[in-house]
Amino acid sequence: MKKIVVGMFKHETNSFVPGLTDRNAYKKRNYFKGESALSFYRGTNSEPGGVLRALEGEKDIEIVPSVFFDATPGAKVSADMWEEAKDGIIAAAKGAGDVDGMLLCLHGAMMTETTDDGEGDLLRAVREALGDGFPIVCTLDLHANVSSDMVKYSTALFPYHHNPHVDYAERGAEAARCLTSIMRGEKVYTAFCKLPLLLENLSTFSGLMAEAEKECRAQERAGKVISISVCHGFVPTDSSVSGAAVIAVAKDMTAAQSCADNMGKKIWDMRHKLARKFYSLPEALCEIRGKKGPFCFADTSDNPGGGGSGDSTHLLRAMLDAKVENAAFAVIVDPETVEKAYAVGAGNTAEFKIGGKTLPEINGKPVECRARVLFTINISFKNTGVMQTGLKYDLGRTALLKVGGIDIIVCENRFQPLDPEVFRACGIDPLSKDILAVKSSIHFRCNYENFAKRIFEFDLPGLTHFSRDPSKYKRCPRPVFPLDDI
Ligand SMILES: [Zn+2]
Repeated sequence: MKKIVVGMFKHETNSFVPGLTDRNAYKKRNYFKGESALSFYRGTNSEPGGVLRALEGEKDIEIVPSVFFDATPGAKVSADMWEEAKDGIIAAAKGAGDVDGMLLCLHGAMMTETTDDGEGDLLRAVREALGDGFPIVCTLDLHANVSSDMVKYSTALFPYHHNPHVDYAERGAEAARCLTSIMRGEKVYTAFCKLPLLLENLSTFSGLMAEAEKECRAQERAGKVISISVCHGFVPTDSSVSGAAVIAVAKDMTAAQSCADNMGKKIWDMRHKLARKFYSLPEALCEIRGKKGPFCFADTSDNPGGGGSGDSTHLLRAMLDAKVENAAFAVIVDPETVEKAYAVGAGNTAEFKIGGKTLPEINGKPVECRARVLFTINISFKNTGVMQTGLKYDLGRTALLKVGGIDIIVCENRFQPLDPEVFRACGIDPLSKDILAVKSSIHFRCNYENFAKRIFEFDLPGLTHFSRDPSKYKRCPRPVFPLDDI
């Protein structure tokens, strides 16, 4: 029987968010130790879900669950939280006796109080504890800021291929299959090509990044590499390891390095043409005037899935000022307003100050308005769309407020409303609305593209807005495109 330690410690750190991501933040999302994680993730479109799918069918494999910690993106991770995760992973391996391999589900853009390279430091500590040659295979996010230490101290890395990340489970299963082949004696090598490039959040389902993605898969099919992936990096993080990279895993190092370098050059050559199309609200309203929805409006600059506080009021205020009708807004994260809505009670009307509580100088001031409380309720739901399918989101106490023609979901917990299930959980049929506004940058597309008549993305001030202001980046290695002219 071969023993594999499986664990998860994820965080996408937005270094422009003040404060720390501590144990409480992890407990609000996913904080599991041991067996309880397996039943939570089994059958879901998550990396551990894919790992279990691949390994639980194998007769000679025993899974040793360690820690499974995942918090909503945000401020740097506290040093004690990082220590707890590191200790938990190492203790699970040591406590299980002779273990044969480790599979870690990581993000790759974690900063902590004490390091820019949360995952690189973690892998170094695990490597020191388990020794050279011990197989350590990891999944990474497409938005990883890959460091040389991540590559050096792991055996193989498997970043998601897609943005939106619809392939969590697929990558988990692929990493698990690679790990078992290494445990059977196969040699694999991981190479990376780091680029001095900060990429905005780009879909891999359209445009040049879709072309790059297709070419990566073609190289795999041709047998040049076991795996090749483009990590776009995460631009709301100013760290000494910021930047895009290509990772290749192959049976010989020369092939891995040359494939990574070639794809790296192709991405670099595209850099001037990689841009998203954003709209202003008047432009979008002009395009949909007199037409039946649903149309999707994305508040890309306050995406809680990238560290946004979820209480920016720029888009909500503009929609109210424009007197839009038959609209629903997901979400405003504002415990204070929820508290007041509970006090006012369902069916009643009162004066509210909605959103704008966190960093109003960036996110805008609260929307002062008269609102009717449609209902108050504790909400949690499981994603039914194609991303994170089956995973549960807990909004905490939630109020549905009606202001003008907009039903506004106001909740306590920060989360990215990437799945239209959030509307259904609040009793709103998404198909019945003309406008559905969501605080999400890219991920909502994997679900809304299936039914929205059109999608409009807005680039407003916010914590997930890519400012391209060179003075904001103090730790990122320079020169870097597009902050510098290279
Ligand atoms: Zn990501």
